[in-house]
Amino acid sequence: MKIIVTGGNGFIGSNLIFFILKNSNHDVLNIDKITYASNPKSLKQIKENQKYSFKKIDICNSKKTLSIINEFKPDAIMHLAAESHVDRSIDNPNNFIQTNIVGTYNLLENSRIFWSSLSKSKKNKFRFIHISTDEVFGSLKDNDSAFHEKTLYDPSSPYSASKAGSDHLVRAWYRTFELPTIITNCSNNYGPYQHPEKLIPLTILNAIEGKDLPIYGNGKQIRDWLYVEDHVAALYSVLINGKIGESYNIGGLNELKNIDVVKHICCVLDKILPKKGHKYYNQIKFVEDRPGHDYRYAINPNKIKNKLNWKPKNNFELGIEKTVLWYIENIKWTKFFEKNDNSRNRVGLKKNRL
Ligand code: NAD
Repeated sequence: MKIIVTGGNGFIGSNLIFFILKNSNHDVLNIDKITYASNPKSLKQIKENQKYSFKKIDICNSKKTLSIINEFKPDAIMHLAAESHVDRSIDNPNNFIQTNIVGTYNLLENSRIFWSSLSKSKKNKFRFIHISTDEVFGSLKDNDSAFHEKTLYDPSSPYSASKAGSDHLVRAWYRTFELPTIITNCSNNYGPYQHPEKLIPLTILNAIEGKDLPIYGNGKQIRDWLYVEDHVAALYSVLINGKIGESYNIGGLNELKNIDVVKHICCVLDKILPKKGHKYYNQIKFVEDRPGHDYRYAINPNKIKNKLNWKPKNNFELGIEKTVLWYIENIKWTKFFEKNDNSRNRVGLKKNRL
């Protein structure tokens, strides 16, 4: 199979490409704009792999997007390219509307043009997998049941609203044009190659460097954490066995308060990187809350478990230990971002927006 992955230089995209190359014989073409969020070093290890190729393309550029699809002739497109950081969407929503909505529209429309030109059997096999988020469903209260595939959309931030918009476009391209699309909505990911501006890498790196460990508000917001390797395994099973026109919720059944996530990382560091007379949790600092901060996300993953036989292999304890070790061993990888976009210090963004 020939697969186009968009946003393959990002956190989940790079892990997805590693997974596909390791576990199959497919050809992968990565198209990525290389924004501030991507680190060219992430994909260094597969640069010479004959099954992998890369084109620097902005999905908002319709002409280039159509031309590369026609040239590569994919059997599937896995669409991950997006602006993905909620705080940046509050400070500057424009890029989010452009990439997440206009870019997804371009990709859908150009995929449709290409797909229309295929033979009947190729048309039936073609897949457009749209990778989305649980944030489109909005915020839960403590006693609410977890998000399922029929939960109504109710996004809170410019990021989640732009992702919700892109999901609606994908569904419309299936219902109106019969483009064989599938949507996935996943909970918060963590693991290797995540940008240092996100909660878990930021906590690990700031802790190691003796800096404050900022926590929004009272830190009681709940997220359902999934190790990235389990997410990409789920995406692959959706690609191979998912049903067109449907959506799949993906989650790790790991609901945790932000404060407990940060404390857990501190305990792991106390164990594997002890500092004499110091406990990492003393670096925790509560900061002003994010506007429109959703309280709780939780995923009911029964559909993907029952229909596609997927379940996560890593519980939070195992996943977080692997993640902490990865960041300790790959400090050099994180330095690239400091040189290019010092977002861990929120340069150019509002004070305390972490
Ligand atoms: P990321 O920010 O790490 O990576 C995004 C990638 O997309 C980057 O390499 C960037 O250069 C590329 N990109 C951005 N704009 C582009 C454009 N106009 N054209 C081409 N490439 C462009 O994001 P991520 O965390 O890897 O998320 C990937 C996808 O998964 C996103 O669609 C996101 O909404 C979704 N998702 C993420 C999470 C999570 O916890 N990280 C959870 C659920 C869903």
